[in-house]
Amino acid sequence: MRERQWNVRDAILWGAKSLKKAGVQTSRLDAELIMSYALKCERSHLIAARDRTLSPDEIESYAQLIKKRIKGIPVAYITGVKEFMGMDFAVNPSVLIPRPDTEVLVESVIDEIKKIKAPWVLDIGTGCGCIGISIARFVPDSVVCAVDVSAPALEIAAFNARKLSVDARVFFYLGDLYSALPKEFAHKFDAIVSNPPYIPSRSIKDLPLDVRSEPVLALDGGEDGLDFYRRIISGAPLYLKKEGILAFEVGYNQAREVASMMSWYSVYTVKDLSGIERVVVGRRVR
Ligand code: GLN
Repeated sequence: MRERQWNVRDAILWGAKSLKKAGVQTSRLDAELIMSYALKCERSHLIAARDRTLSPDEIESYAQLIKKRIKGIPVAYITGVKEFMGMDFAVNPSVLIPRPDTEVLVESVIDEIKKIKAPWVLDIGTGCGCIGISIARFVPDSVVCAVDVSAPALEIAAFNARKLSVDARVFFYLGDLYSALPKEFAHKFDAIVSNPPYIPSRSIKDLPLDVRSEPVLALDGGEDGLDFYRRIISGAPLYLKKEGILAFEVGYNQAREVASMMSWYSVYTVKDLSGIERVVVGRRVR
């Protein structure tokens, strides 16, 4: 890379081509995200900067980052941010990278609770905090409790809550599901929401390379992938109000089985952007 002068446009083209050859599907986008990270500028500024000549240090650091991406490191771990619900969330390898499909879950919950005055929401397995923090942002009088079993994940989530100015209404609890919560929170919640780990243990090894860089703790849902749904559903009656909402993201082909576990609820499902049943929402009726 050192022997010639590179401008921004040519370096992006080179990066995109190298990523494509390595099988990266979003090669152009990733090259642009990596370039804007290397130049510490917004991606939208790259067009105006396309003829700018890169310094040897800039091209060197850009090339190193492209190499990391080729090795299977997800672009969000390289740049340290992922956009979700129109906001930038900080991420690192101790949290799952937020997915666009999860926005369908967040929107469903917002729809269900927006008419309730000062609703209390519990986000189980919050990771980087994307679900709970987005709900807090879009429902301005909500109170959100966010639980995770991973201390480093909660650190990132708390950072995101501060950065997105909802830290006065989002509270974090470290521990395993409901055991993390104070007992006084029994029957307090208007909604419980979770995108739990749902990959069957034996399938973890077959996941694409970049997904395998994400924490196993955030992916592994036990033998059939449904362990966390069972545990969250069985613990919910103690924490959820009557008529409260229990909402999950589910994996491919899991919606029906999860819905059938929710016998105390009146249930519907919502499809994701590719038409897969991705979200199961239940209103408690018993
Ligand atoms: N709640 C976070 C998300 O939806 C983390 C989920 C997880 O780690 N399984 O991205």
